[in-house]
Amino acid sequence: MLSAEQIRSGFIDFFKDKGHEFVPSSPIVPIGDETLLFTNAGMNQFKDIFLGLVSPEYGRAVNSQKCLRVSGKHNDLEQVGKDTYHHTFFEMLGNWSFDDYFKAEAIEWAWELLTKVWGIAPDSLWATVFAGYDGEGLPRDDEADRLWTKVTPIPAERVLAFGKKGNFWEMGDIGPCGPCSEIHIDLGPDVCDKKGVPGHKCAVNGGCSRFIELWNLVFIQYNRTDEGRLLELGAKYVDTGAGLERIAAVLQKKKSNYDTDLFMPIVEGIAEITGHKYTSRLNNNIDNAFRVISDHIRAVIFAITDGATPSNEGRGYVIRRILRRASRFGRELGMHEPFIYKLVPVVVDCLGEAFGEIKERADHVSTVVESEEASFGRTLDRGIELFNAAAKRAKAGREKTISGEDAFQLYDTYGFPFDLTELMAEERNLKVDTVKFNELMEEQRQRARAASVKDSISISEKVSVTILSKTEDLHKYHVDDCDSKIVGFVDEKGFRNDGNIEVEGEVGIVLDRTCFYAEAGGQIGDCGIIKSEHGKFIVESTTKIANCVIHQGHVAEGSFSAGEKVKAIVSRERRDSIKKNHTATHLLQWALQKVVGKSVAQQGSLVGPDYLRFDFTCPKALTGEQTKEVENLVRQKITEDLPLTCVVMPRAEAEKLGAMALFGEKYGSEVRVVAIGAADEKLLGDAFSREFCGGTHCDNTGQIGGFKIIKEESISAGVRRITALTGSGLTNYLEDRGEIVDKLSVMLKTSAEELVDRVDRLIKENKKLAKKLKSGAGRAGSDAKDEAKKLLEKCEKIDGTSVIIGCLSTTSVEQAREAVDMLKKKAKSAAVVLGFDDDGKVTLLAGFTDDLVRKGLKAGVLVREIAPIVDGGGGGRPQMAQAGGKKPEKIKDALNKARELIKEKLTGS
Ligand code: ATP
Ligand code: MG
Repeated sequence: MLSAEQIRSGFIDFFKDKGHEFVPSSPIVPIGDETLLFTNAGMNQFKDIFLGLVSPEYGRAVNSQKCLRVSGKHNDLEQVGKDTYHHTFFEMLGNWSFDDYFKAEAIEWAWELLTKVWGIAPDSLWATVFAGYDGEGLPRDDEADRLWTKVTPIPAERVLAFGKKGNFWEMGDIGPCGPCSEIHIDLGPDVCDKKGVPGHKCAVNGGCSRFIELWNLVFIQYNRTDEGRLLELGAKYVDTGAGLERIAAVLQKKKSNYDTDLFMPIVEGIAEITGHKYTSRLNNNIDNAFRVISDHIRAVIFAITDGATPSNEGRGYVIRRILRRASRFGRELGMHEPFIYKLVPVVVDCLGEAFGEIKERADHVSTVVESEEASFGRTLDRGIELFNAAAKRAKAGREKTISGEDAFQLYDTYGFPFDLTELMAEERNLKVDTVKFNELMEEQRQRARAASVKDSISISEKVSVTILSKTEDLHKYHVDDCDSKIVGFVDEKGFRNDGNIEVEGEVGIVLDRTCFYAEAGGQIGDCGIIKSEHGKFIVESTTKIANCVIHQGHVAEGSFSAGEKVKAIVSRERRDSIKKNHTATHLLQWALQKVVGKSVAQQGSLVGPDYLRFDFTCPKALTGEQTKEVENLVRQKITEDLPLTCVVMPRAEAEKLGAMALFGEKYGSEVRVVAIGAADEKLLGDAFSREFCGGTHCDNTGQIGGFKIIKEESISAGVRRITALTGSGLTNYLEDRGEIVDKLSVMLKTSAEELVDRVDRLIKENKKLAKKLKSGAGRAGSDAKDEAKKLLEKCEKIDGTSVIIGCLSTTSVEQAREAVDMLKKKAKSAAVVLGFDDDGKVTLLAGFTDDLVRKGLKAGVLVREIAPIVDGGGGGRPQMAQAGGKKPEKIKDALNKARELIKEKLTGS
């Protein structure tokens, strides 16, 4: 029995023998193609060839492409688990002809491989061809129809014709397209999953699991124009796709893809962790959960490995949802704690040989998956609460139906798959409003579609049917200006290679040659000007579509016409800053690997004129020491003023050298390697840093000048981000900081060196005050008055004069003074003496109403007499006086003395 591994390599070898070049799978996250969230077919990486934008390096190709069908035109997510042959992640085996062979060979070889090499019974196979579609003038594919019976022994009655939906392939609304021919297999009546469904009849494309599509052969022979017309293409292409998992099931004689060696180890892993058994039944909650989890973990591993990170938007959101779906199904198996991450090594065991990248990134993927599972566990419990509330509302209602809004919120916010909400509803004898739910889903899809269409994409789609010229742009590595000629213009209407432009809106200029660097690989595009005899064009950004560089900006003066000679001048200072930041980014990656370890892998970067940003895998935050060490290592390399060498070489050679490639990046057969520390091409082995990189760099590390990390932060589970500065960005930063220090020195009246001490003291003082305020003053305002009032109530009266003497709890002098005033007012005729202790500091206050002052009582005199008792002194006016002292334990004595003195005066004794 063939293993999946043998089937994969058998496919590749079969086509290699027929002159095909093996092309590695492109990443599942199509970096640089914003029109597509995930790679969903083998043809994606060859799109530009079909569009005529780039010429192929070979006439025939073969590969096994990692595909993910979870969004957009191809979305099989909800199907997973319900049947045994639709996956989110699967491998698409494919062979390609780029204007080389055509239908006859494609059909003959597919048949040969399936029946002769792999021994599939010829009478179990069916073929389909395109039946034509009069509405759009699409002719029937008679050629394929004839060829099937001519080059293979299949009888005519097993070649069926189908319409546009199944058998005409189009990449988009415009562009290359053509009829396709599929090969289906009849697995026998036992396998039908629609048995007993009224009206069901097993047939090819009949919607049951008895007939399954194995292989699709697409013949790209037309180009659909803007007006919808079909033109016969000059070049003809073959693009085929066969699902490895489905073929493995057939060749391993299994009823389900999940019973093949691609899935069994994962299924067993789940059984071991959860203690449940997989029994291969459809429509069974437990088995369904097994299928979903084993499918989804593969998808999640490949997507995260290729650079997607669970998040709340775009690709990250899709991945988060898949993982949550798996997590939710885990509850069906009684799993409430993270467990899916434990399956990572199992999948790596199954597929790590064919896709080495998942082996290398396994630790990072585990960290991310576990942390997502943990945080979703918390969300999920809230989701279940929400479901219960929704169910209660539904029960109370007449319709006994969970509203579409609730179902959507569960789906959208809590990651509840719709079928799950339905299932849970069923258990409670409730229905779910599917119509409203679908309506809300559609609205969300519309929003997602609107959000994903960016300006640059509309430009690229507009120009896709026009053959854009290749811009010769190697000058970007050597010079800042060059002479060139205008080839044409790009605006919202598309590309044109005639006419002229004047001062107007945003436009793009295409030149025959340029020294402008177009945004790529994290490095921002150049700015500058394009000058002619009659005009000046400001280039605000530079981008690339296939091999064509587009200088985007506006006309500042005069006009430009196609064919005109111009000078392209890059803004030199800005470019220099970018170079410094880019070279520093390479040094940073090297230093991080030295300090943290080889597990540090680049997740993304942004190299601009003002700063550089580097995202990398790392389970924990860097410590302060690690950050310092990284900084110092980079600075040391800058001081050593080492040379950089950039060499273009075959990819295999670069890999042998150990040059670091960006994970998930798609590289051609030739790559450019940037080496630091090697004086020339022959000494690349001496370099300490070697990276695949197409960016612009300094000639020597010394040119970077300085380096500083200004921020280290987490951007998602297992991924950290460093922001750093060099060159003018660093100078500006230092100047700004200097200004802040100067301003603070002035404000705090101290030198820069003493600032820290000074602020430290201020903070301490402030803390102390705050404490005091909390324990005393806040309450004291009212407390002091309350206490004073109580003193008034029980005070002694002599001749109609209230003699109010007593101690207050800790308060402020102001509050105590207010209390004295209040007492004087309330009592009309009063002699008041109050004292309190504040942390060892004594305050005594005395106040006499005017009638007493007229009688000769003087507050100032009184306090002067009693203050020495508390070891202090004081004085004041006859009406009001104050004294301080150092002996709180003597306050009572002082107050007694005051009482004596006042009584003496009042009674005259
Ligand atoms: P189906 O009708 O079965 O969904 P499809 O028409 O979507 O298939 P194509 O887009 O033609 O399939 O893809 C080419 C091949 O890839 C198919 O013949 C099939 O073998 C395989 N394939 C497609 N979708 C999936 C999937 N979700 N899981 C596994 N294999 C798939
Ligand atoms: Mg499909």
